Amino acid sequence: MARVYLDHNASTQVRPEVLEAMLPYFSQHFGNASSVHAFGQEARAAVEDARAQVAAFLNASPGEIVLTGGGTESDNMAVIGGARACASKGRHVVTTSIEHDAVRQAADLLEQEGFEVTRVAPGPDGRVAPEAIEAALRPDTILVSVMASNNETGVIQPMAEIGAICAKRSVPFHTDAVQAAGKIPIDVSAWQATLATITAHKFYGPKGAGALYVRRGFKCAPLQVGGEHERGRRAGTENVPAIVGLGRACELASEDLTASVPRIAALRDRLEAGLAERVPQIVRHGAAAPRVCNTAHVSFIGAEGEHLILSLDMKGIAVSSGAACKSGSSHPSHVLLAMGVSASVAQAAVRFSLGRCTTEAEIDRVLEIIPGVVEKLRQGSPTLAS
Ligand SMILES: *Cc1c(COP(=O)(O)O)cnc(C)c1O
Repeated sequence: MARVYLDHNASTQVRPEVLEAMLPYFSQHFGNASSVHAFGQEARAAVEDARAQVAAFLNASPGEIVLTGGGTESDNMAVIGGARACASKGRHVVTTSIEHDAVRQAADLLEQEGFEVTRVAPGPDGRVAPEAIEAALRPDTILVSVMASNNETGVIQPMAEIGAICAKRSVPFHTDAVQAAGKIPIDVSAWQATLATITAHKFYGPKGAGALYVRRGFKCAPLQVGGEHERGRRAGTENVPAIVGLGRACELASEDLTASVPRIAALRDRLEAGLAERVPQIVRHGAAAPRVCNTAHVSFIGAEGEHLILSLDMKGIAVSSGAACKSGSSHPSHVLLAMGVSASVAQAAVRFSLGRCTTEAEIDRVLEIIPGVVEKLRQGSPTLAS
């Protein structure tokens, strides 16, 4: 049985072109990028090429790119390191109630350090109003962190508007752009971002390689010390093969914005329309707002989301409840709750996230299988509305 993978917001397969670029750096060019000899210089050149590729992808300069171990690390560095660096100017941070845990728990940690955090809620459509961010700003606000696109709903946040508000008030602005990468253009200049996070494995690169854009002149307090790597911003021997993969993935993702994104959007729309046609009592979350091309987050009222995910897995279809790290637990999604969705509807949610290799035949197979699976789960469910 060919399995269908519709969990690309959790991770993606490494593209063959990316793997090919990485391979020589495991065995042939294995030097430490900090070494002065030829082996080291080979590795250094590869790291700097990748840095330039990442910078081009974000519309930044290479000197503004810190290479990290992934999205979680970049988010932590931006929120914790950014706030700590500005603590002499104030101790108030503004973020949203729909962020990934890498930002959410970083903000929680700041609170334990004596910072104050305001968490702005989105509207029912999942979009955070720029005016709500503006209203949350105080004279002692030293950082704003708003994600570019939500990992559960795919809803795109108004980056340029929020960036302009922060710029007007001279407040550093971080965005977790992990779920935007490869789906919409990321432009840290147009967004007036001070800090921006990406991670390679969400757009066909390897796991454990990410980047943090840090605008020239802004200084984050480093979270990892022990060397002068990344100009003192992130100590530790560079993961050269993964960095090479990140760089190549950035290049390919730029091309894919025109090559694959419209096709993926059409497949997502086909999936949603097909579900609406075949399954009664569904709720599509975030569908009223601008969304990235690949995400459909749907509640099947009266069916337990976690059970649906397990049942679909047994039929070879891989989907998720949203936050991958939460699977197994049945806490309703904090994103849906923040949008005003009831706990019971949130518990019935399943996230479908398509990718560049998703086919029409796969979507049709899912549409064939789901109605029966949902029907079965709904039988005996006490929460099904009549
Ligand atoms: C996956 C993800 C992260 C974490 O990135 P890792 O590289 O897996 O640590 C952060 N933010 C968002 C929105 C994500 O989807």
